[in-house]
Amino acid sequence: MNTFLSAAQETLKSNYQSIAEKQIMPIAKALEEHKQPLKEVFATLGQAACLNTAVPKEYGGQGGSFLNFALFVEAVAQYEAGLGLSLASHASVIELIKKYGSENQKARYLSALARGEEIATLAFAEVTAGTDFSACQMEARESKGGYSLNGKKVWVVNGEVASLAVVLSRVAEDKLAMFLVDLKSSASLKISANREKLGLRSAFTNDIEFHDHQISAESVLLGDGAEQALFAFDVSQVLIGASAIGLVESATNHAAEHARKREQFGVNIGQFQGIQWKLADMGTECAGARLQVYRAAWAVDENAKDLRLYSAMCKWFAARVARIHSGEALQVMGSFGISEDSPVERFYRDAKVMEIAQGTAEFQKMTIVKQLDI
Ligand SMILES: Cc1cc2nc3c(=O)[nH]c(=O)nc-3n(C[C@H](O)[C@H](O)[C@H](O)COP(=O)(O)OP(=O)(O)OC[C@H]3O[C@@H](n4cnc5c(N)ncnc54)[C@H](O)[C@@H]3O)c2cc1C
Repeated sequence: MNTFLSAAQETLKSNYQSIAEKQIMPIAKALEEHKQPLKEVFATLGQAACLNTAVPKEYGGQGGSFLNFALFVEAVAQYEAGLGLSLASHASVIELIKKYGSENQKARYLSALARGEEIATLAFAEVTAGTDFSACQMEARESKGGYSLNGKKVWVVNGEVASLAVVLSRVAEDKLAMFLVDLKSSASLKISANREKLGLRSAFTNDIEFHDHQISAESVLLGDGAEQALFAFDVSQVLIGASAIGLVESATNHAAEHARKREQFGVNIGQFQGIQWKLADMGTECAGARLQVYRAAWAVDENAKDLRLYSAMCKWFAARVARIHSGEALQVMGSFGISEDSPVERFYRDAKVMEIAQGTAEFQKMTIVKQLDI
């Protein structure tokens, strides 16, 4: 792999940077406070051709690379990492349908998702099935020529704004399958209010209950549900990694700007070696995380043998770097950093959640150890 971006990708990255600065920066706080409708943001980004990057041309996409889409998520997360989580969930569904969907499923969903007219989500976790998602109790019983779903999913990102959920369910004692479920309002579906949480608040997280919810036989994704869940983690982890590096870059910039301007003891605090070294650590570790994220995104495009390893490594490392260095950025900024007027206060809260959402740091380490075959 060429570890550096091509000239075309550098141009794309800078275009995404301008789009994020114009469209996301001004509404970042409103998004976190749910004062800016998320559906409108998806529609705007869809119109700006930011969501269809990795969707095949025959389904209304650009037929470009997943790495290019990761560059977009990185740019967005410089201003609002919660939107990065929403996009990660949405894009993971797109990748699942691309890889495992039938022609009908691709035709039905991909172009609407690519245009941002429909929003998608992954529904795997349950009250008693978190890291061990294979303990899933949700049941899909064959009924009336299709399936009847019963059970409850928790922490479903985009739940209340999504029109499509990919739902992991048990179809036999030893077999899981994934179902494409339209989340149209129905007496057999109950979507809870948003769960308030520490960070990444702009991404709604809802519980969804299914009570004899009838779906057609064509709703099932072909293949093994457990493997499909792992593939979804492979993809979403890369995008959380991309969010993490966007967030750290932005936190570092805010801290450096403050260090240039803030005077104490008669000089700018950036003159103190103690502050300089923090900034050196931030810049260096962010660059290391970025290489890991790009390598893992490249592995998605190439369907590389080590995708699972690279994805777990990049998510674990980038989220850790985000948690540590958003804290260091706050430290450089002192009381200015912890004020709610500072975006770095939000970054600090967001970064911790990145170590849990879409698989915990321990889940990633378990994956790394398995892939290393120890
Ligand atoms: C913001 C957010 C968004 C989310 N979005 C989604 C979503 O869209 N769809 C979805 O299905 N789920 C989603 N989740 C759920 C998420 O995937 C789970 O929270 C996560 O997998 C961990 O499960 P748990 O919280 O039940 O923790 P548990 O599995 O109960 O783990 C508790 C602790 O034990 C550790 N642990 C567990 N097993 C082991 C082990 N074998 N070895 C060492 N340590 C272990 C964990 O790492 C963790 O530190 C989201 C969660 C959050 C917080």
